[in-house]
Amino acid sequence: MVSRVIPVDPFDLVIFGGTGDLARRKILPGLFRRFCAGQMPEGSQIIGAARSEMDDAEYRRMVSDAVAEFGGGRTCEAGTLEAFLDAVSYVTTDAKGDGGWVELNGKMRDSTVRAFYFSVAPSLFGDLAERLHRFGLATPESRIVVEKPFGHDLESARALNAALAQHFHETQIYRIDHYLGKETVQNLMAVRFGNMLFEPLWNAQYVDHIQITVAETVGVGGRGGYYDKSGAMRDMVQNHLMQLLCLIAMEPPAKFEPDAVRDEKLKVIRALEPVDWHHIVRGQYGADENGPSYREDVEDPKSRTESFIAMKCHISNWRWAGTPFYLRTGKRLKARASEIAVVFKDAPHSIFGADAGRHRNVLAIRLQPNEGMTLDVTIKEPGPGGMRLVDVPLDMSFADALGPDAEEVPDAYERLIMDVIRGNQTLFMRGDEVEAAWAWTDPLIAGWQARNDVPKTYDPGSSGPEDALMLMHRDGRKWREVKA
Ligand code: NAD
Repeated sequence: MVSRVIPVDPFDLVIFGGTGDLARRKILPGLFRRFCAGQMPEGSQIIGAARSEMDDAEYRRMVSDAVAEFGGGRTCEAGTLEAFLDAVSYVTTDAKGDGGWVELNGKMRDSTVRAFYFSVAPSLFGDLAERLHRFGLATPESRIVVEKPFGHDLESARALNAALAQHFHETQIYRIDHYLGKETVQNLMAVRFGNMLFEPLWNAQYVDHIQITVAETVGVGGRGGYYDKSGAMRDMVQNHLMQLLCLIAMEPPAKFEPDAVRDEKLKVIRALEPVDWHHIVRGQYGADENGPSYREDVEDPKSRTESFIAMKCHISNWRWAGTPFYLRTGKRLKARASEIAVVFKDAPHSIFGADAGRHRNVLAIRLQPNEGMTLDVTIKEPGPGGMRLVDVPLDMSFADALGPDAEEVPDAYERLIMDVIRGNQTLFMRGDEVEAAWAWTDPLIAGWQARNDVPKTYDPGSSGPEDALMLMHRDGRKWREVKA
């Protein structure tokens, strides 16, 4: 299988917050990988812009260190890093002041794609948007990329959307959810809409339930202060899990085009029913020999913010009425594993009798680790001894399927940044989607706050609180194992 690099036009990419953690861990190493793959055309430039005083040489050293540390060990031809660094420069720029903007403007070139990556706190988005206009950097074709969190609730998301809309048209705004850039997530659309096999079964008549799990082994660590104001619901469910849910549940769009796809996702969010509070389980990890408890991590012995959440949701439309969607996500769990599992119903009648047991087809889409898919099918256990049935997986891991080319598959950030340069918004969230997601989330949060709900403590290294297991057991179902 040959990987294909689709060229993009030469670009000027300004990274506001170019010295920050995200820029160093993801954006800059990602750009370097695209450069190695030959996708960053000659004549493109990357300009770091942040508050720190630094010259080009110092910034290039920082970028070189970031590539060495976070580049994933990618080896390129000799001299490639030097050539990449030649395209990199830096301007000390203050989002809240006027310093640096004229110099930054002097670097921008006409007739080159312009993109501005806002890798800074959301409180600076409005300032950046305003100054990009005031100092004449923004053209009608330029694009801005904004990071999560996009708001804290519906009101703040509306305010952010309004602040950006004062200076940029919706077609210029790229709200990143890096989950949408993952290979498997896009493959989910290919599997659903590129095959005859699945779509006829993709509904309440044939699907028993759907599980979405995003499990992390790390705690909140140094991000405690930020995380405690947010929690798993705001940090993970409102954006990442919701986007996965949309792709699983949406109707086929007429075309694989930005607004066609986003219109369908929006319909799913709007069809989400409010969740009964009995169907929400919140948890906080306790302490063990490997680390402190959540409350110790956030330095608040009374914190009621959840580091784990599980819930049962329903989508009220013709396709999904009656089919539960179980979502769960948490920190300090057993394994780092993200998976979507579509569990099909039992065959209506077993010709093999009760002894054959209960067998179900499950389509599992693994986002990490080892991106791929498995489809459990029931077959006869080989050998003599009558008709005994077993479930075996048809297993497809991308690394195996793509062979040596697997290394060439861009990671989520690489792919999404190239989509920005191409001007393709399909994998980015539209403003109304984000607002609809908050409109569903806000009352759930307000509900547990009004009830003074205290999250259940769970053992680190487990799969979450007991109550989360009960959420499924009560329905005669069970979670799939969280395993790497
Ligand atoms: P960070 O604190 O490491 O970096 C912030 C950057 O903003 C620095 O370069 C700093 O110089 C710059 N900055 C701060 N004030 C400024 C000002 N007034 N003018 C110009 N520049 C200024 O933060 P980060 O972790 O890189 O995160 C950046 C954004 O990305 C945040 O919104 C964060 O929520 C989001 N995000 C980060 C990650 C991650 O893995 N780090 C993941 C997802 C989203």
